[in-house]
Amino acid sequence: MKKIIVTIDGPAGAGKSTTARRVAHRLGYLYIDSGAMYRAVTLAALRESTSLDDESLGELANRCDIHMEPGYESQAVFLNGEDVSLAIRQSNVTGSVSQVSAFPRVRRALVQRQRSLGLLGGVVMDGRDIGSVVFPNAEVKVFFTADTEERIKRRLSEAIERGESIAEDEVRQQILGRDKIDSEREESPLVKPAGATEVDTTRLTMDEQVERILELVSQCANF
Ligand code: C5P
Repeated sequence: MKKIIVTIDGPAGAGKSTTARRVAHRLGYLYIDSGAMYRAVTLAALRESTSLDDESLGELANRCDIHMEPGYESQAVFLNGEDVSLAIRQSNVTGSVSQVSAFPRVRRALVQRQRSLGLLGGVVMDGRDIGSVVFPNAEVKVFFTADTEERIKRRLSEAIERGESIAEDEVRQQILGRDKIDSEREESPLVKPAGATEVDTTRLTMDEQVERILELVSQCANF
C-alpha cells in the first residue's frame, strides 16, 4: 500500500492538531506539527533576544535543532536537545510567533525541513501553508475552518487545561491578531490550498473530524 501525504491547513483553534495526530495514529503515519517548528524558532529568538529581521531570524532558524517525538495525546518538541513542549505554548511565544513566521528566510529554513520529513510519504502534517506551499502535490489536502467564537472557546479551554491563567479577551486578541498576520503576509499566507476539501469543524465532534479525513484518504486513488 502506498504511503501518501495528508495536509491539514487552517486558522488557530480549527481543530487541526488533535485531528491530524489521531488520523496519523489510525493510519500508522507520522504526525508533524509544523506550527511547533515555528514556535520553537520563536522561543529561541525570544531567549536570545534576536533582532526581528529576516537575516538574523533566518540564521537562527537554520541553526535551531528541532526534534519532535510523536505521541497519541501530545507530541514532545525538543529545541537543541531541551524539551520545550510546554514553553512553546506559553503566551509570550503565541504573541510573537506570527511576526517571526512572516519572515521569508525563516520559512525557507523550515519548509526545507518539512519537505525532507515528508520525502517517504506516510505523513500527516498540519499548518498554514502545507497544502499550498510545502506539499502542493499531496494526495489528500484538507482546509479546516470554524466560527471565530468557537475557536476562541477551544483555545481558552486548552490553556485552562494546561493550568495557564489567561483571560478570554487575551485569547481573542491573540487569535484575531494571528489570523490577520497569517493571512495577510506576503510570503505563504494562510489560504485554502488549490484542490483542498474544506471542512467546517464548528459543530463536528473530534471523532467526526477524524472520520471525515479517513474517508477522504480511503477515496484517494493512490492509497
Ligand atoms: O499551529 P499553531 O497555531 O501552533 O501555529 C503557530 C503559528 O505558526 C501560526 O500562527 C503561524 O504564524 C505559524 N505557522 C506558519 N506556517 C505553518 C504553521 C504555523 O506560519 N505551516
